[in-house]
Amino acid sequence: MAKKHAYRNIKMCTKDCLCLFVCPTGAANNETGQIDYSKCIGCGACAEACPSKAITLIPNNMPEIQPKYKSIIDKNFKLANFKIEEIKILKYLLKKATNEEQKILKALIYSNQIIIEDLMRESGYMLPNTKYSKNLLNNIRKNEELKEIAQELIEEFE
Ligand code: SF4
Ligand code: SF4
Repeated sequence: MAKKHAYRNIKMCTKDCLCLFVCPTGAANNETGQIDYSKCIGCGACAEACPSKAITLIPNNMPEIQPKYKSIIDKNFKLANFKIEEIKILKYLLKKATNEEQKILKALIYSNQIIIEDLMRESGYMLPNTKYSKNLLNNIRKNEELKEIAQELIEEFE
């Protein structure tokens, strides 16, 4: 069995079928639109041929997830809270800034948001500030038991 197999990102695929022609096993030609894992030998020909970079070779066995230590999560939260305060200050400055200054302040706000999102993800949490996580939360909101917490999270980051 190959150590890696191909994975197709459907959203990037322009359906020109080049991968189907070069695949020696037929694994790339699957009705589901995804590569057939059981037939893939991990040769990488499809990834090389794909003009849209829609195919990636990924390991068959992912390394074990490292344990998350409370001491590190606590520090992540501390840093994230510091960044939240920083964003509040930047938003305040934004109101009085010139057009040129606004560009810099907006970039700083955005970079702080990304840092917070990374810190939270590393700590095992998801922040609803991307389109995908918001959609997920909106779906969770349909569940009677979970709707309140999903609503709170959405409002917190709007
Ligand atoms: S890695 Fe090789 S076998 Fe697997 S789908 Fe791509 S071309 Fe086919
Ligand atoms: S070569 Fe790339 S873009 Fe073309 S069908 Fe295959 S995955 Fe899609």
